[in-house]
Amino acid sequence: MTVPPEGYNGKVAFVTGAASGIGRATALAFARAGAQVALADLSADGLKETTRLIAADGGRQALALTCDVTNEQDVKAAVDKAVEDFGRIDAVFNNAGIEQPVKPATDISKDEWDRIIGVSLTGVFLCLKAQIPHMVRQGGGAIVNVSSGAGVKGFQGQAAYAAAKHGVIGLTKSAALDYAADNVRINAICPGIIDTEMIRRFGDTRPGGREGLIADEPIGRLGKPEEIASAVLWLCSDGGAFTTGTALVVDGGQTT
Ligand code: NAD
Repeated sequence: MTVPPEGYNGKVAFVTGAASGIGRATALAFARAGAQVALADLSADGLKETTRLIAADGGRQALALTCDVTNEQDVKAAVDKAVEDFGRIDAVFNNAGIEQPVKPATDISKDEWDRIIGVSLTGVFLCLKAQIPHMVRQGGGAIVNVSSGAGVKGFQGQAAYAAAKHGVIGLTKSAALDYAADNVRINAICPGIIDTEMIRRFGDTRPGGREGLIADEPIGRLGKPEEIASAVLWLCSDGGAFTTGTALVVDGGQTT
């Protein structure tokens, strides 16, 4: 099922990690479907480029919010600013995350562990904490949290990353139950190997490189950021109205 063009007219979307990769593609897709879009990321330069792309695509003015998702005040200020400017938030993609260099579990330093869990799991928690009260107050909304194939199975050399991504699914399922009666739907998405800056960096350090990553995809190629964006838009749309607490795997068969 695809989301009808203009299916987000009058809606407001909020995307973290919007300066690059999957987040940028999803922000562009929301804007193309008619939403007003708030973009949050650490990278002010990357946000500038995403806002330029959105304006070039359809003339929409996106709201760029420089924000570290590990900082509770930053996150609350960004979410509150989006609500102040646009009046509400209907659709959220909590997508900011960082990769882990390949290494066995006990070689991971405590600092590395804290950083990966801090961005990719605690960051999602802090976003939910800031976003859900607005959605409850306005009568509903839909949130998608980014997990990974590493959220549904183990990967050698990826203990901290997989712990964070498994954690996102537990957080998503539990919060979905907490707010189902408030008409706030919360789902996770588990992308396979998607061709982004993260995967270019990761492929450079991993034995087998990019070819090895392609070989891990039964479908015979890496995924495109737009193929995750379309699933996120569906999950947040009226077409997904009965879907909450799920972890949708979109991975070319990688974890099958
Ligand atoms: P990317 O590196 O291209 O983009 C990640 C974005 O997150 C960047 O713009 C970065 O600045 C931002 N970010 C990092 N730390 C942040 C912080 N503390 N606060 C705010 N923003 C921060 O990566 P991507 O491939 O687009 O990945 C997006 C998400 O999808 C990540 O959570 C990643 O773990 C997940 N994911 C990616 C893949 C893949 O194959 N690319 C697969 C599964 C899951």
